[in-house]
Formats: sequence, structure tokens, C-alpha cells
Amino acid sequence: MREGEKRGTVGKESANPYFENQKYPEHTLCPRCGLVYRHGRWQVDSAPAPGSPQKNHCPACRREIERYPGGLVYLRGGYLMKHHQEILNIARNQASSAAAARPLQRIMWIEEGEDEVEIATTNGHLALRIGRAIESACKGDLTSKHAAGDQLVRVYWNREG
Ligand SMILES: [Zn+2]
Repeated sequence: MREGEKRGTVGKESANPYFENQKYPEHTLCPRCGLVYRHGRWQVDSAPAPGSPQKNHCPACRREIERYPGGLVYLRGGYLMKHHQEILNIARNQASSAAAARPLQRIMWIEEGEDEVEIATTNGHLALRIGRAIESACKGDLTSKHAAGDQLVRVYWNREG
């Protein structure tokens, strides 16, 4: 373990000074995904406010535009190769159910390499949630790394055989 690096932060949601904690004027509209900043948080807008709102990209869209993930999940091992679709479905299902309550938690990309799958998320908490769901359904080993001062949470899941 390198200095300044913490392991085992699973379950702890970290503050994010770069994007998510920024304050916006009330009724700011994200022109990319349609979320509205209201009562201090970004949410799905069911009743648009009258007048033309301010426009600004929400933190999740900013991360997507800048390709700057808040979480990275690395999946490895022989079990992954055999249960590939099933495991990716677990990840996607976790993302959809997270997004219902927390619309800023999204999968940014899924990159499928030779013997590894990388899933980038807008939020470290979602990365942990995906890792835990895969571990709970498929067993295997789950570890996470969250370097101090770094907002990026890395989650590693591995199962051989
Ligand atoms: Zn947006």
C-alpha cells in the first residue's frame, strides 16, 4: 500500500470539491441531459419553472464531456470471460437503479479489453455499488483504492475459473 492511499473505503461516500459540491443558481438547466438544479441539487425536472433558466452543464455531463470519471471498475479473471454479458448486465442494472434516485450517477463508458473490462462512472459510489453487486452475485475478490486527495475511486474485481 502506497503512502497516502487508503484501502477499504467501501460504503463511504466521498465529498467532491471539483464538481458535485459546486453551487449553481437555482433553476439552472443542463442543456445536455435536461436535469435541473433546484433546491440545491440536480434533479429530473417534472415541472419546469417559468421563464428561461440559466444553462450550465451538470456535474455528470461535465465529467462525460471531459472524460473525467469519478470511479473506475476493473473486472478481470476467467469467470468474467465465461459470464461476460451476465456481469455487464449486473453493472448496467445497478447504474439504472442508482440513477432513479441519483441522476448524477451514471456509467460513462464500458471498455472491453482482451482480458479485462473497464467501467468508468461519474461517481465513486456507483463504482463501489457495481463492484459490490458483482461480488455478491458472482463471488470473487473485491478491493477498492481511494488515494487521499484524489477523487477517483478504483474498484477491482477478480475471479478465476
Ligand atoms: Zn447534464
